[in-house]
Amino acid sequence: TEEILLKSEKVSLIGELAAGIAHEIRNPLTSIGGLVQLFDEMNPQKNEFFKDIILTEINRINFIVSELMVLAKPHAVYFSWFNLVENTKNVMELLQPEVNLRNVAITFETDADIIEVYGEKNQLTQVMINLLKNAIEAIPSGGEIRLSVKTSETNVLLSIQDNGVGMTEEQVKKLGEPFYTTKSNGTGLGLMICFKIIQNHKGTINVESELGNGTTFTITLPMRPSVAGYPENTSENVASPTP
Ligand code: ADP
Ligand code: MG
Repeated sequence: TEEILLKSEKVSLIGELAAGIAHEIRNPLTSIGGLVQLFDEMNPQKNEFFKDIILTEINRINFIVSELMVLAKPHAVYFSWFNLVENTKNVMELLQPEVNLRNVAITFETDADIIEVYGEKNQLTQVMINLLKNAIEAIPSGGEIRLSVKTSETNVLLSIQDNGVGMTEEQVKKLGEPFYTTKSNGTGLGLMICFKIIQNHKGTINVESELGNGTTFTITLPMRPSVAGYPENTSENVASPTP
């Protein structure tokens, strides 16, 4: 019966997600359809203006679809050992332009140069990018982000702390719901994807936030795959993603 329950839960989750996707994509499509009908052969200037809006709407659809593609890459899912410290540094470098743009100070703390985790490197990188981006976007200007990667006896702890806008308790409860966003150009898919990926890794995400004071996301990953119930580690295992 447990399995049946789980299945129906999954089906309703898929339904929710599908409804969200349909809604999010129909909006820009409706707008594109409307604008195309307004095209006016006699008024090229007006047409230019419509064209810009149409391209923006198409970009939005593209962006939503590419975010969803992260969840739909069954062929590229490889679990392997990798150094989470090095990976975190790479992510920081990748987002350096946005960090500079927003005048944010980032500090990175770790208790070792090498902290190996067993996971899907691309997916975990995606999680770090999504969380770091959110932290940067939560800071009006000139704020501070603290990243840390540490180990406990059985877990690896990755935390991302910002002193940005923070959230109310109600907002925190909504995190991970597909399409929940407070940003004018947000998709509300980033955290849903993070939760899904961390769940695939048998880890947890903890959120502490205070309105006006900032937010800390802490990811806990089991250090040993045998503890986590992963397949025995050879050099590399191909794991099918959990549906
Ligand atoms: P998006 O970034 O596209 O809005 P996410 O799923 O990444 O979608 O985030 C959902 C919402 O969660 C954001 O719109 C924001 O309101 C809130 N949020 C996420 N991270 C933070 C953070 N570090 N500080 C404040 N709010 C956050
Ligand atoms: Mg985001």
